[in-house]
Amino acid sequence: MVWKFALAATTAFIGVQAAVKTNYASTVDPLNVVLPDIPQTTSLDEAVQCTYYSSPNAIVPAEWPTVWGSATSNGMNTSAEFTALYNSIDWTKVPNFPVRKLTAAGGLDMAGYDNVNDPACWWSSTTCKIPKTQGINGDLYACPEPEVWGITFDDGPNCSHNAFYDFLEKEKQKATMFYIGSNVVNWPYGALRGVKDGHHIAGHTWSHKMMTTLTNQEVLAELYYTQKAIKHVTGVTPKHWRPALGDLDDRVRWIATQLDLTAILWNLDTFDWAANVQAGVTEQTVDDHYQEYIKMGTNGTFANSGNIVLSHEINAMTMNFFMKHYPAIKKAYTHVMDVATCMNITQPYAENAVVFPTFDQAVGTTSNNSSASGSGTTPGAAKASTTGANAASGSVTFNGPLFIAALFGLLALV
Ligand SMILES: [Zn+2]
Repeated sequence: MVWKFALAATTAFIGVQAAVKTNYASTVDPLNVVLPDIPQTTSLDEAVQCTYYSSPNAIVPAEWPTVWGSATSNGMNTSAEFTALYNSIDWTKVPNFPVRKLTAAGGLDMAGYDNVNDPACWWSSTTCKIPKTQGINGDLYACPEPEVWGITFDDGPNCSHNAFYDFLEKEKQKATMFYIGSNVVNWPYGALRGVKDGHHIAGHTWSHKMMTTLTNQEVLAELYYTQKAIKHVTGVTPKHWRPALGDLDDRVRWIATQLDLTAILWNLDTFDWAANVQAGVTEQTVDDHYQEYIKMGTNGTFANSGNIVLSHEINAMTMNFFMKHYPAIKKAYTHVMDVATCMNITQPYAENAVVFPTFDQAVGTTSNNSSASGSGTTPGAAKASTTGANAASGSVTFNGPLFIAALFGLLALV
């Protein structure tokens, strides 16, 4: 299997400086996640799942932004912690592009912007993904290997996602999950389930605002407090994130780079969230999108590289769309996988103990792991994970179950 670095050329890490020092902390061991057996984690009834619960991972509200408020709210912008972080960044180097404005209708105001040359590499303008300013992490937007469907779900953790996550678990299917910070602190067991099941977790901002419309301070806070929330609740610090509606430019990318974050976008959009919400978009429209993208798996569209597909866990409808079309997706594509695996990113978190398989390992060119005898067990389950971690020596820690689970699951797709 030839690894195509060419398509991953957007990762132009030219002169990227070391990330700033952050203050993420957690008492959770991501290799030893145990979910409590309570109705919210086991029921398939939406109302039951979305009933408030207290947990050891609860936050102290005074130390965090207001949930679903701006990430600088509740005095966070003047807190000692955030001020120290902000002042540790050399803001003389931030690309000098303006804070964008919203129109009266709530869209981005592009009046006066040079949409032809797109100097800021503003995705909302031209879907630009390769930064035009040096020293910035470029965006990932397509799995590089042929006939690969890269699965991504935005806006979780949804409090009523048990049936959906059960489905993925049963299918031994990993996906990349973009979690909103406010959802993570509201529904910590939902986020923990994602880590426990071995999904690739990434950030999706604190309050889901369009990032280019925020000040430098607000952008930093949206990213920082989402990282902090995911770490606090699950024990992992994602190295990847996705801006709401894909809205980022080189100013936003530069700030994300300070936190060692790389954006993951997409090259196919299901518009699943828009059914019955946006004028002219029905459930049939979304089904048509899925069917069109499924056809691309066999008509040569992805003969030389793969895709990354945008879908959502925002409600039952969007999750159902995926489950409905999943058998056809598996049939049409050679491989269906999370973005970390398809991009050969074996350590997608700051915590190097959590290791994902390489693409080749995942698709089974190293398939002698008969130790995956516990195929019916939950990936990343406590006992097996601990064994995997302890089995490694020195600083190299191998998360056996995560790897084996991914390997085992993906073999079934070949
Ligand atoms: Zn979103």
